[in-house]
Amino acid sequence: MGQIIACANQKGGVGKTTTVVNLATYLALAGDSVLVIDLDPQGNATSGFGLDRTEIGRSVYEAIIDESRLADLVLATAVPGLSIVPSSISLAGAEVELAPLPQRERRLARILTELVSRYDYIVLDCPPSLGLLTVNALTAADAVVIPIQCEYYALEGLSQLIATINLVRNHLNPDLAIKGVVLTMYDPRTNLSAEVDAEVRKYLGPTVFDTIIPRSVRLSEAPSYGLPIALYRPDSKGAEAYEALAAELRSRDGRPARSGTAPRQTTDASAVAATEPPAPAGGGQ
Ligand code: ATP
Ligand code: MG
Repeated sequence: MGQIIACANQKGGVGKTTTVVNLATYLALAGDSVLVIDLDPQGNATSGFGLDRTEIGRSVYEAIIDESRLADLVLATAVPGLSIVPSSISLAGAEVELAPLPQRERRLARILTELVSRYDYIVLDCPPSLGLLTVNALTAADAVVIPIQCEYYALEGLSQLIATINLVRNHLNPDLAIKGVVLTMYDPRTNLSAEVDAEVRKYLGPTVFDTIIPRSVRLSEAPSYGLPIALYRPDSKGAEAYEALAAELRSRDGRPARSGTAPRQTTDASAVAATEPPAPAGGGQ
């Protein structure tokens, strides 16, 4: 039976989509069968895998609102073992259209039941709000991964997110677990990052993943090539971090580590490297 993981934080720009795209990729490269579902009308996970949102006719919207079969909406990606149900612009209206529907919080959970046995992991990319799409994700999920950006006010909004998770637990999904909190965009040159790291660990303890995602120019460039970091710059620090995060998550699930499965250099990556612009000034990994 597959595990459904929602990546959620109502704060915008904290690294949800970057985490979904790259964590899912490294889970797939470790041998798991993985489905990403892009629940954000912005469609950043969809474009992060190189799919052109404007050309996508049918998306997760059709499943949630019109009850199309989710299995008919699954598309392949360049990553072996990883598929996606894309987002499309029509999803922007879903929050409003969901409101009057029966079982409005459970629609995603219901349509996912036919797919859950086909995958080891189903990873849901949530929009930056605590609206009905995120509530649908939390209701469908077994566990939540919460990215927290290493910046001022890192913990701001976290209590609201935890309160929403508790509400969902009490009324909709009693078994919802917090899989882990992942610190993102860590800059080792600043005291601030170290302070956020210490503070988050003080409050949340072992829930916080040991793996920390560093701020990485390569991670921010990869979506413009429509590639996860594993296919864009597998040797970068950001790639190593997401590979380690996938390994840590798998080990929390008691899944054996599989070494040497991630491609250190792939055809895709060399093709991209050949056309890549020079690194920005001061650009590190
Ligand atoms: P939204 O709330 O809008 O959905 P999000 O939480 O999904 O945002 P991302 O889109 O993953 O956040 O990241 C926000 C921006 O920060 C993007 O431009 C992304 O490329 C960049 N980014 C994410 N993680 C990193 C990182 N570790 N290093 C550098 N840039 C990063
Ligand atoms: Mg996003």
